[in-house]
Amino acid sequence: MAGQILDGKAIAADIRADIKAQLDARVAEGHRPPGLAVILIGANAASQVYVRNKRRACEEVGFYSELHELPPDTSQDALLDLIDALNGDALIDGILVQLPLPRHLDEEAVIERILPTKDVDGFHPYNIGRLALRLPLLRPCTPKGVMTLLGRTGRCLQGLDAVVIGQSNIVGRPMALELLAARCTVTISHSRTKDLPDKARGADILVAAVGRPRFVPADWVKEGAIVVDVGINRLADGTLAGDVDFAPCRERASWITPVPGGVGPMTIASLLENTLQAAELHAAGQG
Ligand code: NAD
Repeated sequence: MAGQILDGKAIAADIRADIKAQLDARVAEGHRPPGLAVILIGANAASQVYVRNKRRACEEVGFYSELHELPPDTSQDALLDLIDALNGDALIDGILVQLPLPRHLDEEAVIERILPTKDVDGFHPYNIGRLALRLPLLRPCTPKGVMTLLGRTGRCLQGLDAVVIGQSNIVGRPMALELLAARCTVTISHSRTKDLPDKARGADILVAAVGRPRFVPADWVKEGAIVVDVGINRLADGTLAGDVDFAPCRERASWITPVPGGVGPMTIASLLENTLQAAELHAAGQG
């Protein structure tokens, strides 16, 4: 029997409605709306789409948002000065620097300059470190969104074997930390991993974050596994494909995320959750 769809689009809409209700209650108590500052450097077409979607979601729930569009030749010092100003801005709870940055900019130094309580992407070493220690504060958005999806399956995750394909700082690694915190037994695999198909076949939860269209075939999927497809790949004909060969993998899975409409909307929902959480921290005098 075909696996059930983990409908990220619908679940993200529920989360946005919930956030809007929480925001309305906060504003009624006299708090200002949470504020998100987005910094976009250069004119990367995909980044422009991501930024537009994030700001639209902010506006829909009633957050304040501002966009800082900087030219591609922006200097490291100018970018750090802007982050310093936003760190000190009382109307701003979250600072998001859209990645990737132009090559002349030092991504690590930029991320580390953001105040950890304003790091709503959850990429600051402080926030990753807290996640590693099972003391999460602001959690990276995509893995957090995946955990929300896994929660919606109703399955107890404790003790399940999870395999994450991909080890990037923004998806694979924090995904593995999230699953470990949920008491799964976690294997992280990457481009140098031996016998990946065998490892994947052992997974109760298989998360693909590779960036290669339909990389995971059906015979890598254990019968009854939960399959999460993080990949977003633009094909030559303009359509989107995930990292998982969806239709045949669905036949073996118990649950599976589609692309589009799976993990993508959850990433944005997690960003809104993080921005609200950051506003609550700041209102409580932390950060
Ligand atoms: P990345 O390129 O930084 O990392 C890809 C990872 O895949 C690397 O760790 C690499 O070792 C691994 N890999 C490459 N070839 C492999 C192979 N043959 N076998 C095993 N592992 C292999 O990419 P990323 O930033 O982690 O993104 C991964 C995918 O997720 C992309 O398609 C990206 O667009 C997508 N993405 C989606 C969202 C979302 O919200 N849905 C968010 C971020 C990224």
